[in-house]
Amino acid sequence: MNSNNNIYNLAAVGVQQLIPYKAGKPIEELERELGLTEIIKLASNENPLGPGKKALAAIQETLSTLALYPDGSGFSLKKALANKYGVVESQITLGNGSNELLELLARAFLTPEFEAVFSQHAFAVYPIVTQAVGAKSVVVPALNYGHDLDAMLKAVTEKTRLVFIANPNNPTGTLLSQSSLESFIGALPDTCVCVLDEAYFEFVNRVENVNSIDWLKKFPNLLITRTFSKAYGLAGLRIGYGLSSSEMADILNRVRQPFNNNILALVAAEAALGDDEHLQQTIAVNEQGMQQLTEGFKQLGLEWIPSAGNFVLVDLKQAGQPVYDALLRRGVIVRPVGNYELPNHLRISIGTAAENQQFLEALTNTLANV
Ligand SMILES: *Cc1c(COP(=O)(O)O)cnc(C)c1O
Repeated sequence: MNSNNNIYNLAAVGVQQLIPYKAGKPIEELERELGLTEIIKLASNENPLGPGKKALAAIQETLSTLALYPDGSGFSLKKALANKYGVVESQITLGNGSNELLELLARAFLTPEFEAVFSQHAFAVYPIVTQAVGAKSVVVPALNYGHDLDAMLKAVTEKTRLVFIANPNNPTGTLLSQSSLESFIGALPDTCVCVLDEAYFEFVNRVENVNSIDWLKKFPNLLITRTFSKAYGLAGLRIGYGLSSSEMADILNRVRQPFNNNILALVAAEAALGDDEHLQQTIAVNEQGMQQLTEGFKQLGLEWIPSAGNFVLVDLKQAGQPVYDALLRRGVIVRPVGNYELPNHLRISIGTAAENQQFLEALTNTLANV
C-alpha cells in the first residue's frame, strides 16, 4: 500500500468534516495534569448527590449475574416506565444514554439528501449525529439564547426529516412553554419527525406542568427522549429512553444493537424510577444550589441566563476560556461553551452547597486576578 495514503480520505465525507464532541474534563485527568487533590467537577450536569440508595442496592444484587447477556428487550424497565408514564411498552425505545436515541433517529431517518433542523446554541450532539450519516444540518439563529420556533418552522422544507428541540435547552437552560411547543409540533408537516429532547424534564416538572406525553396520541411523528443521566444520577451507566408511537419505536428498534443496554443499567434505572425520595432531594438541592450560585453571581456583578435545568450559564463579559483555565488551576472544573458560539459564558452545573461555595470562592479569586 502507498504509505502516503491518508486514512482521512477514506472516511465518509460527513465524518471527515465532523468536529468531535468535547466532554467535560474528568477529575482524574486534572489530577494527573496538575497534581491537585480536592477537585470538584461542575461540568457535565451530573447529579451532585450521586445515585440513589435503591439504584445502588439493585446494582449490588445484580453483580453476580454479569456473565449473562442482559435482557435485550428491557422488558422489566419498559414495564416500569409504561406504568409510570401511562404509555404501552411498545411505545418505548431504550438507549445507551438518550444520546443513542439521537443516533438511532439519525440512522433511521436521515440520508445525504435530507436535512435536520435545530437551533443555534442547541445540544452539540445534534450536528454530530446528522453529519455522521452525511445529512445536512440547518442551524436556525437563536432568539434570546433559546429556540426561535417561528424561524425554525420556516426552515422546515420537504427535505427536512428531523427537527431537534431541547427543552430546556443545554447549554443555555432556556425553556419553551408547553403551549408554544404544542402549536409548533402541530404546525410541522407530516414529512418530518420532531425530536423533543427532555433530558432535564424532572427539573422542569414542578415549574411547568409538562404534558408532552399526552401529545403522542395526536402527533404520530413526535419522539420524546429522556434520560437517567441527569436527575436520576446514573450518567456513568448510560441509559435513556424514547417515547413515541409504537410504529416509530418499531423503526428505531430495527437499527438498535440487540444488547445496547447493559444489565446494571437496566436494574439501576428501574430501581431509580421507584426512588421518589432521592429524586425529590435532588430537585431540592438543585433549587437551593441555583439560588446560591445566582446570588453569588449577583454579588460579583455578573449576569446569567435564567435556567430551567441543573446548570446555569454565567456571562463573564470577557473571554471564558482563560477564566476556565484559571478555575482549573484552583481545582474547579466547569464547562467552556465557545464551541456553542458563546465565548464569554461558562456553564456551571449545580453542585452541593459546599461545591457551589468552593466554586464561587474560586471564581471570585480568579476574577480578581485576570
Ligand atoms: C445530557 C443530555 C442528553 C443525554 O445524555 P445521556 O447521558 O446520553 O442520556 C441529551 N440531551 C441533552 C440536551 C443533554 O443535555
